[in-house]
Amino acid sequence: MNITATLLNYYQLCHRKMWLHYHAIRMEHTSEVVYEGKLIREESYPFRADKNEEVEISLPLQKGDGWGEEVVLTAKIDFFDAKRGIVHETKKSAAKEWAHVAQVQFYLYLLQKNGVEVSHGVIEYPKLRQTERVTLGEEDVLRIEANIEKIREVLEQEQCPPKLPISKCKACSYFEFCWVGDE
Ligand code: SF4
Repeated sequence: MNITATLLNYYQLCHRKMWLHYHAIRMEHTSEVVYEGKLIREESYPFRADKNEEVEISLPLQKGDGWGEEVVLTAKIDFFDAKRGIVHETKKSAAKEWAHVAQVQFYLYLLQKNGVEVSHGVIEYPKLRQTERVTLGEEDVLRIEANIEKIREVLEQEQCPPKLPISKCKACSYFEFCWVGDE
């Protein structure tokens, strides 16, 4: 089982979304929201690739009691400034969200666990013209490890988790999948 930053992000938003994504029911390619995010990142920081490196990283976990299968944590970090130990993440969102912080903390966690020296993360919000500094403390590490265990449990469920209230679903790429015909 691969637990990715995307799954961690979805875990913060909706367990059902995370489960659907993991089980290869993908709607993101049809989502204008996702496309817009990619576009903003490319247009806002066109020269970033010259200064920073894209990093793919993974961390196999020791199999725990009651685990159905091995767990490997994986992430593809878009921009890592290895010289200064800074992870950069760009969000198209016009609002700051806790899930963004959790995603960057997961990157810092994976780098640190792989013996890479990290300083902090920076989330850039071009629409807000703001940045947010992200650090990783001991409590964050404990929370990440507890979340990984909960994510594993949800993903091993045979049944898709229940829907959130529809008011929380409007911007979700699975909206049609979950609600069309049900509203
Ligand atoms: S539409 Fe709502 S319930 Fe369905 S996956 Fe998205 S957030 Fe979850």
